[in-house]
Amino acid sequence: MIPALDDLKAMTCAQQPVYDDPAAEAAAVEQLRNLPPLVFAGECDDLKARMADVAAGRAFVLQGGDCAETFDGLTANAIKARIRVLLSMSLALSYGGQTPVFTLGRIAGQYAKPRSSDNETRDGITLPAYRGDAVNGFEFTPVSRRNDPQRLIRAYNAASSTLNLVRAFMAGGFGDVRQAHTWNALFVRDSHVQKRYEQLAGEIERAIGFMEACGIRDENMRSGEFFASHEALLLDYEHALTRVDFRTGLPYDTSGHLLWIGERTRQLDGAHVEFFAHVRNPLGVKLGATTTVAEAVGLAERLNPDHEPGRLTFITRLGAAKVRDVLPGLVTGVADAGHEVGWVCDPMHGNTITTASGFKTRLFTDMAAELDGFFDVHEELGTWPGGIHIELTGEDVTECLGGAFELSEDDLDTHYETLCDPRLNRNQALELAFQVSQRLGAIVAKRRPDRDPVDW
Ligand code: PEP
Ligand code: MN
Repeated sequence: MIPALDDLKAMTCAQQPVYDDPAAEAAAVEQLRNLPPLVFAGECDDLKARMADVAAGRAFVLQGGDCAETFDGLTANAIKARIRVLLSMSLALSYGGQTPVFTLGRIAGQYAKPRSSDNETRDGITLPAYRGDAVNGFEFTPVSRRNDPQRLIRAYNAASSTLNLVRAFMAGGFGDVRQAHTWNALFVRDSHVQKRYEQLAGEIERAIGFMEACGIRDENMRSGEFFASHEALLLDYEHALTRVDFRTGLPYDTSGHLLWIGERTRQLDGAHVEFFAHVRNPLGVKLGATTTVAEAVGLAERLNPDHEPGRLTFITRLGAAKVRDVLPGLVTGVADAGHEVGWVCDPMHGNTITTASGFKTRLFTDMAAELDGFFDVHEELGTWPGGIHIELTGEDVTECLGGAFELSEDDLDTHYETLCDPRLNRNQALELAFQVSQRLGAIVAKRRPDRDPVDW
């Protein structure tokens, strides 16, 4: 059975908000315990089977979405735009990579953020740091920055309506590859990324037309799969949404299909690892550049002692400068200890810089360089680069530098909207997907000499 919430909180339990009214916190947790689950255990098992394909080199996962979802950002248009970017990227990856690709949103639960500092000071005034809409408000006032446990309920409701819309889109045919031309309706028309995309969508349309002329009709073309994931940070929320699967009697955290443990909460003796060792969802763990082989192996032993396929994925965020030094040791160390895990590259979180004018940003070239390092290392080791983890938005924000429109430092304040980390805009995200698809296609072609890589 899963450990009691109080016992977990008595352990090393990093990044948890402190509430000034513990009775109100307990009441919110109790309220959550009585609400319906957001996902079904059977769906988590389906995703685990996909993640097993990733670990075994049979599929590629595109994990992406906002750094921090917000209650105000919950609009149909914003969700649709994000889904469109993810679907477009996944199309580029599966066509260029000639590999099954599935999409795992950073969505419907990404409402809590780990912070490196508990407080924030502006113009001599110090207030608690913003910890995500599930905890407190972004506005820099004492009232807004106060931790409010009722926000846990709002996060649940926001996740619920987001998932509802995403499920409706996918069930209603929005993810049908025959719709590929419409996914890019919002893209800036004159970018070179856009032209590549038009070409891709056109080729796919002709290929499908040909297949249908031959009498081949496949339901897989229509019902794009879409799973939801978020960083499982707040134990109040994750514990309260854990339910026992009536089919098997096993506990699942029903706040999302896949949950990942962040770089700041993955202590081997910590509450997060202890809790997630007990639920049956597929799991991710972020690994930063200081991760030792012993830590990675320890995590695999704790979180997947029974070697269940697809249970554990390591999401490395090592930085462009370190990926080539650190990744080979981690991959071989984990394999030598007898563990098969999925390897996914997060090229965002090891490449964050602050400009002279104070903007937190990331260089497109650094992210592309980390991805190149990730693919090179796996190619040299003969292991499988299983996926990418990207912070992106469907809007035309100006938060990361370079890419399709060569955004410069002077452009940053035009549409800098993130409340936390800088995200790729839709053109930058698609451009990155095209670059990755080329690397993937080349690796797949080498493994299967009957296939030529698709040249963009
Ligand atoms: C994140 O994914 O937004 C995040 C905080 O990542 P990490 O745990 O890798 O720092
Ligand atoms: Mn982030």
